[in-house]
Amino acid sequence: MPPTNPPHDCPLCPRLAAFRTDNRRLYPDWFNDPVPNWGDARPRLIIVGLAPGLRGANRTGRPFTGDYAGVLLYATLKKFGLATGEFLADPHDSLQLVNTLIVNAVRCVPPQNKPTPAEIRTCRQFLTATLETYRPPAYLALGRIAHDSLLSALGERKALFPFRHGAEHALSAGGTLYDSYHCSRYNTNTGVLTTAMFEDVVGRAAQAVKGG
Ligand code: SF4
Repeated sequence: MPPTNPPHDCPLCPRLAAFRTDNRRLYPDWFNDPVPNWGDARPRLIIVGLAPGLRGANRTGRPFTGDYAGVLLYATLKKFGLATGEFLADPHDSLQLVNTLIVNAVRCVPPQNKPTPAEIRTCRQFLTATLETYRPPAYLALGRIAHDSLLSALGERKALFPFRHGAEHALSAGGTLYDSYHCSRYNTNTGVLTTAMFEDVVGRAAQAVKGG
């Protein structure tokens, strides 16, 4: 099985590897590597995001850290006991995840936040390895691309489990997949995703993690 995290200089997506090289030159103090999984060493919930943001995880090296997307995510995880400590949008803050691991479907920052289908497919080997390593009872997909990539990684038939915000899918491979719109600034600013909508999904996933 491939490793759960790619190597520092993963060459598999030429466009993203070139973008990484450009960013290292432009922003030498930033992380600018494939962003590794982050969270509990024995997760019961795996959250799958899309890809690092340029000034977020690509800058800080921790998923959903440094740009807006982490604000709602981590406040909600804390509310339901899936995180502790203080989130300061800095990997050196005191935030810790509880029973939870965060993984991106694509590990390198893509230009304009848009990975190509080939890049999503190529990076899936690390997602697959992560899911096979942990096999948690619950998954939370943030957005349709994460949902689709997670289903492919688990060998599920996508037609059986269509993406819908708030949906709960009992997977053939075991475990329950919860769907949410991505907690991006765009989605929250436009009202596509409200705090109440996000809390409803995360709250149910948290119940599953606790076996409730
Ligand atoms: S996106 Fe994934 S597969 Fe592609 S270069 Fe980055 S780490 Fe490698």
